[in-house]
Amino acid sequence: MEIIRTIADLRARLKRESAISFVPTMGNIHDGHLSLVRIGLGHAPFVVTSIFVNQLQFIQGEDFDKYPRTFADDCGKLEAAGNHVVFAPDEAQMYPERQFFIVEPPPIANKLEGRFRPGHFRGVSTVVLKLFNMVQPQVAVFGKKDYQQLSIIRHMVDQFALPVSIIPAETVRAVDGLALSSRNRYLADDERVEAPRLNEALRQVKAAVEAGDRNFEALEFAADALLARHRWHVDYVVVRSRRSLMQPDADERELVVLGAAKLGQTRLIDNLEISAPA
Ligand code: AMP
Repeated sequence: MEIIRTIADLRARLKRESAISFVPTMGNIHDGHLSLVRIGLGHAPFVVTSIFVNQLQFIQGEDFDKYPRTFADDCGKLEAAGNHVVFAPDEAQMYPERQFFIVEPPPIANKLEGRFRPGHFRGVSTVVLKLFNMVQPQVAVFGKKDYQQLSIIRHMVDQFALPVSIIPAETVRAVDGLALSSRNRYLADDERVEAPRLNEALRQVKAAVEAGDRNFEALEFAADALLARHRWHVDYVVVRSRRSLMQPDADERELVVLGAAKLGQTRLIDNLEISAPA
């Protein structure tokens, strides 16, 4: 596996490859990321994974400085999974000067995650567009774990006619249901025991909706209350249209329940797709 640090070296190396799958990450590689690499290998013979902690998508006061950076470990895991190139630009490669040209995503970017992390999806969209231009992949794999991100990236690719296919990947979980995340390592031992309850609350909503209950507000309220009783600070638990991430129409069946909540200092997100009965 090769580690490449500059755009010039990346371009020179990738000239030889005819089809590339791309997995953008912020590092601290876990089995969720590795599943994306494996999916990428199924779509193209050559896989590039990027590792870049993108300051542009962090909000003031968030964990940019303490975000786990475990580069040597990450490379070992990626190599074992069959990844070919790690592209790890430094700040000066990615942002040699202040980034003036910014991708402005649609209004949904100010809702859900965007409501609690203003500007986050502007930063995500901008760095992903830059990374796509650097790697020029045919395929890029994104996790459903970050459901709103996946949706916004798909929309961006569509509106800008970017020549890349976006492949969604299912969320990889610990056996107790907790979605794998780099931020899980911030959890204290007792918080780690409590953490699967976010998934449990979403599963209860999913089960009720799949059994025919469409009183979303009451279900959201019950999930909220369950978490609050166990010392979570809930940002949102909402049932949305998978297509628009807006409130579902009365007859809409392809739904998703999305949740975000803080346990102590650690903010966790999760979601589950729901197929409501006809
Ligand atoms: P991150 O490094 O957290 O920015 O994530 C990089 C990519 O990995 C994104 O497409 C995420 O959605 C995806 N990802 C993160 N956690 C998981 C998981 N538990 N299962 C599947 N994909 C994931």
